[in-house]
Amino acid sequence: MALGEFDLIERYFSQIGESPSVRIGVGDDAAVLELPEGHVHLISTDTAVSGVHFLPDSQPDVIAYRAIMAAASDLAAMGAKPEGMLLALTLPEANADWLASFADGIRSASELTLLPLIGGDTTRGPLTITVTVMGSAPIGCYLTRSGARPGDRLCVSGTLGDAAAGLAILDRADTGIASAHVAFLKSRFNQPMARLALGRKLNGVATSAIDVSDGLLVDAGQLARSSGVGVIIDREAVPLSVALRAYADPAQTMEWALRGGDDYELLFTLPDQAEMPDDCTEIGRVSSGVGVRCDGVEKLTGYDHFER
Ligand code: ADP
Ligand code: MG
Repeated sequence: MALGEFDLIERYFSQIGESPSVRIGVGDDAAVLELPEGHVHLISTDTAVSGVHFLPDSQPDVIAYRAIMAAASDLAAMGAKPEGMLLALTLPEANADWLASFADGIRSASELTLLPLIGGDTTRGPLTITVTVMGSAPIGCYLTRSGARPGDRLCVSGTLGDAAAGLAILDRADTGIASAHVAFLKSRFNQPMARLALGRKLNGVATSAIDVSDGLLVDAGQLARSSGVGVIIDREAVPLSVALRAYADPAQTMEWALRGGDDYELLFTLPDQAEMPDDCTEIGRVSSGVGVRCDGVEKLTGYDHFER
């Protein structure tokens, strides 16, 4: 590498974000995080591989940003307060322009999530990004997938299917819809926003939560299995954006909303008396059965890396 490993880390991966919990960040053998008394760590890691999770010629800032948001979304789903992240980067070569753009993506995701970059690893090889996020919550006070109870309302934040549509039109010149709709759908894929504030608000209120990363039907199935309950989804109630409805016919729209991944919205269950948070929609109920039921839909699938 023309740039030495040390210079590269110093130039692109130092001084990104800050937090009072960070005692030692990038530069020592290990980072040191100090949490307030009575709090636990919530830790999650996510890997993005070139050719699997993103196209090899994707913009570096988008690759970095999306990798961080995907990881941060898991903290959102647990209702955690963001504390810090580690980034392990495997690179075929150290190209200064590529790295500068990649670092821009890290910086904007760090600002939006309030996750300072506190360490990582840099190696040479096929392009792969692993982001490990750390959050905190009071002992015993976090959201899980396993607390849904029959009778709870099944709810989702925002709108679904936008990221799948955004991916489909990423490099289409002519979509036949207003440019503002195109920009919205593309940004839902390229610049998703982990629902960290909503997750913290739901902490102590929702009975269970999961983030929608693999598709509504699949993620609802995970939540149902973990909770030992069934869920009934009313597909007519699934929230759809104006842009998505403008772009696709009703069948395609429903397909993306039910099976498309990458929206990073939160799917959660609320007891009857709990107030519905802003920008959230009731889409069904928790039942005493098993699995997902969605009338009018037969194959209850989404994205699975190992499915053949
Ligand atoms: P070591 O050889 O002890 O593992 P490294 O030379 O790999 O140390 O890393 C030096 C410092 O730079 C460490 O604090 C490490 O966490 C940080 N670091 C390395 N790569 C990255 C990266 N891609 N992003 C953020 N921090 C990094
Ligand atoms: Mg190392």
